[in-house]
Amino acid sequence: DHLVNQIAAGEVVERPASVIKELIENSLDAGCARLEIDVEQGGIKRLRVRDDGRGIARDQLALALARHATSKLFELADLEAVGTLGFRGEALPSIASVSRLTLTSRVRPDSDDAASDRAGDSAWEVAVAIDGRLEGPRPAAHPSGTSVEVRDLFFNTPARRKFLRTEKTEFDHVDQVVRRLALARPDVALELRHNGRVVHQLPAADGRPESVLARLDRLLGAGFAEQSLEIDVSAVDLRLHGWVRRPAFSRSQPDQQFFYVNGRLIRDRLITHAIRQAFSDFLHQARHPGYVLFLELPPRLVDVNVHPAKHEVRFRESRQVHDFIQRALQRRLAQGVL
Ligand code: ADP
Ligand code: MG
Repeated sequence: DHLVNQIAAGEVVERPASVIKELIENSLDAGCARLEIDVEQGGIKRLRVRDDGRGIARDQLALALARHATSKLFELADLEAVGTLGFRGEALPSIASVSRLTLTSRVRPDSDDAASDRAGDSAWEVAVAIDGRLEGPRPAAHPSGTSVEVRDLFFNTPARRKFLRTEKTEFDHVDQVVRRLALARPDVALELRHNGRVVHQLPAADGRPESVLARLDRLLGAGFAEQSLEIDVSAVDLRLHGWVRRPAFSRSQPDQQFFYVNGRLIRDRLITHAIRQAFSDFLHQARHPGYVLFLELPPRLVDVNVHPAKHEVRFRESRQVHDFIQRALQRRLAQGVL
C-alpha cells in the first residue's frame, strides 16, 4: 500500500509547491478563515500549513491518511458536481508516502464532531513512521483547526529528490502557488513565512471592493488597483467577475494573468483567446493585459476531473463560454476609461 501511495505521489507531488497547494486546498475545503504557511529551505527541509478550519476528530485522523478516504464524495454522482477543491482522497496518503508527515488537529468547538463527543476538548496528532506505519493518535497541543507538517520531502525516493532545484527556485514555486490561492480567496487571512522571514501577511478582505483591491495590490504590485476596472457580468448559467488592468506597453510586466473557473486557477487556450480578442478591439497594443478573473458556472457544465494537478478544465459548451467572456469584457472595456 505504501508503494501504491508512492506511485500515486508521482502524479500529485512533484515538488514542495505541489504539497503546499494540496494542503491549502484542504484547509479551504475545511472552511478556514485563516492560513499560516511556514516553509524552510524552499519547503524541501520542512513545510507546514496550519488552518483554523473545522478540524479532524481523533478517530478520523488515521482515515485522513488512508488511500481514497475522502470525506468529500459520498456518491459517484457527486463527481459531476464537485464543489470542493479536493475530491480524490489521494493527496495526504501520497504526500505521507514520500515524506515524514505529521497531522495535528483539534475539532472546532462549533462543529458536529465536537458536539457529539467533546472531541474539541483536546488536540490529537498522528505521524507516519519511516516504514509507513502510523503512530498515534497521541495528545498534542494545538488550537482548533489543523496543521500538516511535512519534513524531508522525497527522503525515501532519491530519484525524485534529484529533480528538486535550488532552495530559491523551489520557494519561488511555493510563492506562486500561495499567490494564486491568495488572489482567489481574499476572504481568508494568510501568512507565508520562509526561513522565519515573513513574505506575505495579508489580512482578510471584508467584502468591500477596496479591501479586495488592497490584496491585489500587495500580490501583484502597487498600481494594479489604480489601473484596473472591476467587472461583474452575468448571463444564464454564467458569471464573470474580477478585474482587468491596462496592458503594459513599454516594459514586460510580471505575470498578472489569473483566470479561475469555479475557484480553481486554470490555464486554457480558449479563454486566453477570448480575452485577447476582447482587448484587441480596443487597444491594438494590448498584447499583455493583466487580469484577475473568476468564471462561475454550474459544475455540470465543466469537467475539472481532467488531471490530478487540476490546471485543465473541459467545458461542455466551449464556444458559448468563449463568446460570453469575450463579449462581457468587450462591453466593460467599452464603458471604462482604460
Ligand atoms: P481529498 O481532499 O481529496 O478529500 P486528501 O487526501 O487531500 O483528500 O484529504 C483526505 C481527507 O482528510 C479529506 O477528505 C478531509 O476529510 C481530511 N482533511 C485533510 N486536510 C484537512 C484539513 N486541513 N482540515 C480538515 N480536514 C482535513
Ligand atoms: Mg485534498
